[in-house]
Amino acid sequence: MGSFKWINLFIIIFKYFLTITPIFSYSNEVPNFLDLAKEPQVFDWMVDIRRKIHENPELGYEEFETSKLIREKLDELGIPYKHPVAVTGVVGYIGTGLPPFVALRADMDALLMQELVEWEHKSKVPGKMHACGHDAHVSMLLGAAKILKDHEKYFNGTVVLVFQPAEEGGAGAKKIVDAGVLENVSAIFGLHILPGIPLGEVASKSGPMSAGCGLFEAIISGRGGHAALPQHSIDPILAASNVIVSLQHIVSREVDPLDSQVVTVGMFQGGGAFNVIPDSVTIGGTFRAFLRESFTQLKHRIEQVISGQAAVQRCNATVSFLEEKKPLIPPTVNNGDLHDYFKSVAGSLLGTDKVKGMEQMTGSEDFAFYQEALPGYLFLLGMEDISAERLPGPHSPYYKVNEDALPYGAALHASLAAGYLAKLHHEVLVVEGKYHDEL
Ligand SMILES: [Zn+2]
Ligand SMILES: [Zn+2]
Repeated sequence: MGSFKWINLFIIIFKYFLTITPIFSYSNEVPNFLDLAKEPQVFDWMVDIRRKIHENPELGYEEFETSKLIREKLDELGIPYKHPVAVTGVVGYIGTGLPPFVALRADMDALLMQELVEWEHKSKVPGKMHACGHDAHVSMLLGAAKILKDHEKYFNGTVVLVFQPAEEGGAGAKKIVDAGVLENVSAIFGLHILPGIPLGEVASKSGPMSAGCGLFEAIISGRGGHAALPQHSIDPILAASNVIVSLQHIVSREVDPLDSQVVTVGMFQGGGAFNVIPDSVTIGGTFRAFLRESFTQLKHRIEQVISGQAAVQRCNATVSFLEEKKPLIPPTVNNGDLHDYFKSVAGSLLGTDKVKGMEQMTGSEDFAFYQEALPGYLFLLGMEDISAERLPGPHSPYYKVNEDALPYGAALHASLAAGYLAKLHHEVLVVEGKYHDEL
């Protein structure tokens, strides 16, 4: 009886502390960061950063000026950071510096292509362009940093800002993970701005979202000779042709039709004369799958089919997946619990009708490397002004960013991070409370 009273007293004190602790609660006490992000001191600041980066696009692992600009802005905000991480990467910290940790990611790299949009802030570097919106990603994460820094005193934990290099095929995310800066991080969130989705809306899904992506190249060697005397040669052109046909049988005959996969041969190089059988042929292509096991199995079968089918035609084949130059990108698979959390946060910020589902995409995203290391969630941020002309798609030389989307990205980043720290803190308190209840 005596101990029962002590427990009751503890519960009363515990509940009192829960009510007065000045920490954002999971969904209803996080400030409206969208209103803040639309204020000129945040919005104009983000636009200015985005345009500066757009004018000076840098390719993967060469984002030296972009990285410098990010560090200058973090210095301006009084946010400590680590640099260099993964060559040009910057990792900033807002909050107590102690666990729990939640991470937000922006990619920094541009593409090897000429901008064809004529505007005041057009790329000043011939042949290089921000045509995937990574300039906007950096400015939105800095916008979130600016907002979060102003609310830092309410945090019970730390927001980790990840500015990563080389998303476009360079696997910068993998280098960030390998650098160890995300150890002890509970979750990571990322976004990709996209035309085709209206401004103010977001889209995402639980589970596989974008495909794993790999490249392959095979040299099929026979024995060259006169085209009129095929009996004295071993024809690699015929062998390569059979290889290509057999590769198409993997998806059509071996794979569950509901488990979408792609094998495309996009390159065939061999022969240079009408009447000569060449010594060798080189073919190359790409493969995609949404499930990690399917991706691994597909890679394995591509190698087997090329070697086996070349051997049927008496040729030798050497197969390479070019992982040194272009690392395999695993499928992007969104964590189910984080999906529920995202819908709740984005729904209260934008309205539940603005949070859409989506079909999985056969494109790839190196955010997948984070998701292999820790729970991660990637979503698409709309920027299409439905009353204006349709925006060209990513990687188009006419690509444009609707800068009105910047506050939405910044506010979502900030809300997801602040809310997640509050959620983790609340869960710890509940667990502790239960523990004492059971005494
Ligand atoms: Zn891209
Ligand atoms: Zn991109």
